[in-house]
Amino acid sequence: MNLAVLLEKTAQRVPDHVALRFENRQLSYGELNRRVNKVAGAIKNLGIGPGDRCILMMQTCPEFVVAYYALAKIGAVIIPVNFLYKAHELRYIISDSQPRAFIGMYPYLDEPARVLADFPECAVRIALGVQSDADFISFESLDAPELLETYPASDEDTLAILYTSGTTGAPKGAMLTHKNLYSNAMTVADMRHTEPGDVVIGVLPLYHVFGQTSVMNASIYLGLTLHLFSHFDPGAVLELIEKEKSTLLFAVPTMINRLIAEAEARGLKRSSLRFCISGGASLPVELLKKFEKIFQTKIYEGYGLTECSPVCIENPFGGKTKPGSIGLPIPGFQIRIVDDSGRDVKTGEVGELLVKGPGVMKGYLNKPEETAKTIVDGWLHTGDMARQDEEGYVYIVDRKKDMIIRGGYNVYPREIEEILYRHPDVLEAAVYGVPDADLGEEVAADVVVRDGARVTEEELRKFVKDLVAPYKYPRHIRLVRELPKSHTGKVLKKELRERWVSR
Ligand code: AMP
Repeated sequence: MNLAVLLEKTAQRVPDHVALRFENRQLSYGELNRRVNKVAGAIKNLGIGPGDRCILMMQTCPEFVVAYYALAKIGAVIIPVNFLYKAHELRYIISDSQPRAFIGMYPYLDEPARVLADFPECAVRIALGVQSDADFISFESLDAPELLETYPASDEDTLAILYTSGTTGAPKGAMLTHKNLYSNAMTVADMRHTEPGDVVIGVLPLYHVFGQTSVMNASIYLGLTLHLFSHFDPGAVLELIEKEKSTLLFAVPTMINRLIAEAEARGLKRSSLRFCISGGASLPVELLKKFEKIFQTKIYEGYGLTECSPVCIENPFGGKTKPGSIGLPIPGFQIRIVDDSGRDVKTGEVGELLVKGPGVMKGYLNKPEETAKTIVDGWLHTGDMARQDEEGYVYIVDRKKDMIIRGGYNVYPREIEEILYRHPDVLEAAVYGVPDADLGEEVAADVVVRDGARVTEEELRKFVKDLVAPYKYPRHIRLVRELPKSHTGKVLKKELRERWVSR
């Protein structure tokens, strides 16, 4: 089945229901499907067909959704990239993936134009927000009779290539098939207790797989209204939450943190939030509790990775949820936790998390060796250290590569971060290892404190020291203005380590 069928079926079922809202525009499911069909027809007329790769470099907007589904419909392969990428980042992706088409948007065209000048094979160039000229065809001008037939994708057909740093080194293109992506969207959508009147808050960037699956594809499959935001503005999200009857939020922990601060500052009066899903990075328990209290709602933490389309583990709806845990494998997924020799560890012990299921990618583009190392007998090695309790709930202890080895003892940064978050003055905290001549590594922490807080580095050190074994507390603590983060809110620990070394 082609992923585009999700939209076709919904458009037949609820043609008049609002599919997308964005700024002052809205589109019903019938209108969205017609627009997709016309754009699919136009792109096909430009010579793009099954298997052809197309870069999709747009900020979140309805046209992202239209382009994504139109490309899916004709069997093309979508390569979504961050619209803020600089020339060298884009150049790497274009030379690795050899696309035939590019779809971008004004005002993010300067960097792509510089790169595309060196790639004449990428001949079809389309941009939103421009007049057609020698460089780009205007997206708005794409108009052809509606394409009604949908490319019959097989289970092996790649739908999207998503670039991720994965567990090691340079970005790799994870090839996700139609089946990977539609099965993950349908599974997560069916698990969650949604109602037809729900409005999904679309703040996760759509170029990232969490936004694509949990927000875009799952909402389309269920026929919910998706309120898109071009960027994350906590004030705008709060206004929507106050105005609507029932909203669903999908967010990364940094967003949750900023929403709490904004809600406290504004003295939020009414919350229509029915539930919130957090994923992408670990959610400190203190934040979860605070958010649930302020918004009078429940957070279900889940876990996934690009290579799994992405969701594989989530706290169950209608079942027990456990703060600090990422929950249970979702239907269709199996997990194992293994030691360095690949043997399953005992319940409660820490090891590497392996997952197997219908979302697991086909492999990395052009990287057979990396693929063979990452997927062994169908088991995807996540690079995350985890443990499972007696009831099967999984706890992510940390990234394998972020674990600190201090004088032979393992220190998991996450544990120390959780403790720092318990301090009332701490807004954000990141713990990481720094080189130490004597111990190999020493524990360091960068902390952002709340506005007006007076706490000192020494007081924070003592606060942690009183609560953990002596080898674990951070000897080095620095108060910083902000933490470097990826576009999906993951703290860039590598950068923290580099800053420390070159300080
Ligand atoms: P990405 O491929 O960008 O989606 O990143 C995947 C990685 O994010 C995983 O391998 C984990 O390290 C991390 N991650 C995602 N969800 C969680 C979570 N709930 N708790 C801890 N780490 C998470």
